[in-house]
Amino acid sequence: MANDYSDRRRMGGDDEAGDRLGAAEVAAENIAWRKRSKRRVCKFCVEKVATIDYKDVNLLRYFLSDRGKIVPPRVTGACAKHQRMIRTAIARGRMIALVPFTTTGS
Ligand SMILES: [Zn+2]
Repeated sequence: MANDYSDRRRMGGDDEAGDRLGAAEVAAENIAWRKRSKRRVCKFCVEKVATIDYKDVNLLRYFLSDRGKIVPPRVTGACAKHQRMIRTAIARGRMIALVPFTTTGS
């Protein structure tokens, strides 16, 4: 994004620079945004969860997309250790039909 802007600037579009943020301002805003947005922590680590119950459907559903796929940890914020537990719990839940393998549009 920053590259796009500096390229356009070099080509001499100075008349439109008035209502746009300078590259430095954009960078500063990005840093500010990053500082403002809190570091996502694994909620299981916070609660010091040792095991994830495969019978806890409401919990497992939180980690499934609406199509029944397991949501990647980068979305949920789960750490690797707990993501493994989630995956195992979902696999077990699927075996006894508590959570779906997939959903068919009906
Ligand atoms: Zn964790």
